[in-house]
Amino acid sequence: MYFTRIAELLLDDGSTVHGCKVTDCTFTGSVGEVRAHLAAHKDTSDPAPPARSQLLGLTTAQLLEKAAAADRITKDRDRWKSRALTAERKLKSIHHALRSAT
Ligand SMILES: [Zn+2]
Repeated sequence: MYFTRIAELLLDDGSTVHGCKVTDCTFTGSVGEVRAHLAAHKDTSDPAPPARSQLLGLTTAQLLEKAAAADRITKDRDRWKSRALTAERKLKSIHHALRSAT
């Protein structure tokens, strides 16, 4: 895959030089040098392998289980959210009561 990021440039004197094809990068050198240099781009320009490729390795049962787990988390979150809102309302009324008492 790294080879798709290495360009072979033909110079006027007939020699060839290899260059990095990453956008805005002007690095040139031998194939080995450019290949080694490409590691510098790895973190920024090389996107991590998509999660899809990992999902493809799962069985349908595992996928369903993951979907169910995601669903549970969403429901849990909603439940906690409503509990948090109730608590917040109670707290507000307590604050309000305290303010009117002073
Ligand atoms: Zn480069």
